[in-house]
Amino acid sequence: MTECLFCKIIEKTIPSTIIYEDSEILVFNDIKPCAEVHFLLIPKRHITNMLQLTESDAELMGLLMLKANQLAIAQGLGNGYKTLINTGVNGGQEVYHLHVHVFGNK
Ligand code: 5GP
Ligand code: ZN
Repeated sequence: MTECLFCKIIEKTIPSTIIYEDSEILVFNDIKPCAEVHFLLIPKRHITNMLQLTESDAELMGLLMLKANQLAIAQGLGNGYKTLINTGVNGGQEVYHLHVHVFGNK
């Protein structure tokens, strides 16, 4: 049993509003949105944060960023949006499963 909150969201033992899913990525709405649209993209494979990344994660990170843009446009953020990745204690990370925030107003 995982103790990681986002791994539980991937396993669907904790509910979330999923807006996209494939074999490598899950995307769901942030529970405390800071804008009209606010979603999180996570790799299904547990990676703690950016500090853990290696060369072998390059393709996965590329897919996350491309999907971030695709979904931002689909969610009405075609005029632009913000992205954020908090990393580690000094980066203000609260949930220790790598995630990309996408947020903005339509
Ligand atoms: P961090 O500060 O780690 O980058 O952000 C963690 C984000 O996860 C926060 O924006 C917070 O609102 C969101 N979050 C925390 N717990 C849950 C949850 O149970 N469900 C969802 N959908 N989002 C969560
Ligand atoms: Zn995890």
